Amino acid sequence: MKTYTQTSDGYYGKFGGAYIPELLFNNVDELQKNYKRIIASAVFQKQLKSLLKDYVGRPTPLYFSAALSERYKARIFLKREDLNHTGAHKINNALGQALLAKMMGKQKIVAETGAGQHGVATATACTLLGLSCVVFMGETDIARQAPNVARMKMLGATVIPSVSGTKTLKDATNDAIRYWINHAADTHYIIGSVVGPHPYPDMVTHFQSVISKEIKRQLLKQTGEAEPDYVIACVGGGSNAAGAFYHFLKSKKTKLIGAEAAGKGIDSHETAATLTIGSVGIIHGSKTYLMQNKDGQITEPYSISAGLDYPGIGPLHAHLHETKQASYLAITDDEALKAAKELIKLDGIIPALESAHAFAVLPKMKFKPTDIVVINLSGRGDKDMDTYLKYL
Ligand SMILES: *Cc1c(COP(=O)(O)O)cnc(C)c1O
Repeated sequence: MKTYTQTSDGYYGKFGGAYIPELLFNNVDELQKNYKRIIASAVFQKQLKSLLKDYVGRPTPLYFSAALSERYKARIFLKREDLNHTGAHKINNALGQALLAKMMGKQKIVAETGAGQHGVATATACTLLGLSCVVFMGETDIARQAPNVARMKMLGATVIPSVSGTKTLKDATNDAIRYWINHAADTHYIIGSVVGPHPYPDMVTHFQSVISKEIKRQLLKQTGEAEPDYVIACVGGGSNAAGAFYHFLKSKKTKLIGAEAAGKGIDSHETAATLTIGSVGIIHGSKTYLMQNKDGQITEPYSISAGLDYPGIGPLHAHLHETKQASYLAITDDEALKAAKELIKLDGIIPALESAHAFAVLPKMKFKPTDIVVINLSGRGDKDMDTYLKYL
């Protein structure tokens, strides 16, 4: 029996909490005091449910892959988050938080984005709900992710370049936080993963938990069993994995496996395998594992996939890792590319590079033929075509 719990002050075991500067106290406090009540209200639930169904396209299918099942000698199902509007699971959270912001009386949203996927999902949700939207993005990332920048602008968002530090995600995060401090009265900050100070990890897990809620129902209908033997998901900050794991956290049967990005290898210094090589510290308001040098300086992460290129990990995963309630494997760029190639060839599905890391777990496992395996296909690969054309 797994012992998953989260305390009212946002701790998962010894991880989580809210380590924030004084200046942010009021913003975070307002959210902590209101999010549960609003999310639980009938009017919120009704509206979100209807949007997830008719706008996002939920429930996403649970697809039995005969070809992968044959190859890996197990019963393998794919949860098709790639079929969501905007192409990944991120819209589940962006829409939930945008609706929450609106019900808290906010008119403006601020967000940060690395690869631009969370920025696009947030800009989309804001357009739909009539909120104005400011997205901070590192100058380096703006140059690397031009199509997503164009999408955000087309959707009416203001994209502000972050020009400090390495001009990437962590610099954009710092700028977004500063913006939020200065516009607290009318602005909500939408974080894109299960990271940040309490209540973000809990709130984002809640909005993504629709994934495992659907898996349970769909699997029961398709196999007669509600609980699979394995759930496998890739882990950047950890939101699609948290959503895919959530309703199986208390299961005696289901084994949970996260795939983090090893980049060029865990000893290469070009990696984002936080749980494999990291240690405990504080990042973005939360106590968790992070990649740091011996002086406590955060080290620059690397992965071929921009969405897994993050030096921290959500506190829920730090806790599941430390208590061995879930296992986390480090998957290299090459292994992910090989897995993507296989999925494209066998099933005609071009996955996001992030999601390909989850598929690369398959050849590392020893399944029984009766095992039911669910892989969360977190997003589609349109955004990764340049990389695929270069390597495949
Ligand atoms: C952003 C992203 C991820 C990584 O984020 P998590 O919070 O770990 O889920 C994974 N897959 C896709 C398709 C993404 O866009």
